[in-house]
Amino acid sequence: MTENSALLTVRNLSTHFFSREGISPAVDGVSFDIRPGEALGIAGESGCGKSVTAQSIMRIVPRNGRIVDGEIILDTGAEIVDLVKLDPTGTRIRDIRGKNVSMVFQEPMSAFSMVYTIGNQITEVIRLHQQCDQTEARIRAIDILRRVGMPNPEQSIDAYPFALSGGMRQRAMIAMALACRPSLLIADEPTTAVDVTIQAQVIELLRDLQEEFGMALMIITHDLAVISELCDRVMIMYLGKDVESAPAVELFSNPKHPYTIGLLNSVPELGHGKAQMLEAIEGSVPSLTARPSGCPFHTRCPKFIPNVCDVELPPQVEVAPDHYVRCHLYV
Ligand code: SF4
Repeated sequence: MTENSALLTVRNLSTHFFSREGISPAVDGVSFDIRPGEALGIAGESGCGKSVTAQSIMRIVPRNGRIVDGEIILDTGAEIVDLVKLDPTGTRIRDIRGKNVSMVFQEPMSAFSMVYTIGNQITEVIRLHQQCDQTEARIRAIDILRRVGMPNPEQSIDAYPFALSGGMRQRAMIAMALACRPSLLIADEPTTAVDVTIQAQVIELLRDLQEEFGMALMIITHDLAVISELCDRVMIMYLGKDVESAPAVELFSNPKHPYTIGLLNSVPELGHGKAQMLEAIEGSVPSLTARPSGCPFHTRCPKFIPNVCDVELPPQVEVAPDHYVRCHLYV
């Protein structure tokens, strides 16, 4: 793998859910790359397809969903694998999960079993992917707990998940995800379930660990402040579409898509006090089963062009180097 080649290449990914109400295209033709050591942020409101994109990569899409199109090409260092082609319950994907790609979830309780200690669970991951005995696995688990800032790792390794505070559980989950030094860590809303002081600690921890381990990060969040702290690149999603993507500095200084501009205008800035006018995006995200025709954002867009935006899906265009937008204003 050369420095510029992608670690993960997602092309035209479509993951749909099937129910009595109809088909929900939760992810619909999304493409992006993540290079080794790069941090990509994926942002958008709830229901825009961010988490389903991560679930598709991990091949843990819920039962009523299916990847219906596209490729997810992972460079494991030893081979190039299209994850879409793997059996989601097979040994190959289980080997890749944890070893090459790991995920931390919004709610750490969902990642841990309550009947085993965190040490049992972290050593199990280590022994599943690395050739070592129980004693060696325990030494490695204590080491990784220390690196994520767990106090007294020699004692806390024997704690049950429910006995830890929210912040410590979050650290333990990150430790479990990092136990086998994956080349890509996916973090789904890693700061949503913890309070503000812990949020800052988790962001700092992820930044430090990314540097120390040289791993790539994919952060899913609705919080653009988290992305501005951590990410090299940003992709904005709306109703399953990748509506804008660019290097983070470019996107924050030169946003183009009306949805991205709306998201940025709705973020309070420190120091602006009560006088600051926040502009919420009008309306709410429509149901996926009744997705608007043409541009999916047209029912809420302040720049709506009648007979164009509601008729035709805008193609993706490059508006500046490496800055892509799907909007008729730039076609
Ligand atoms: Fe708005 Fe039209 Fe652009 Fe969609 S294509 S974001 S409706 S201007």
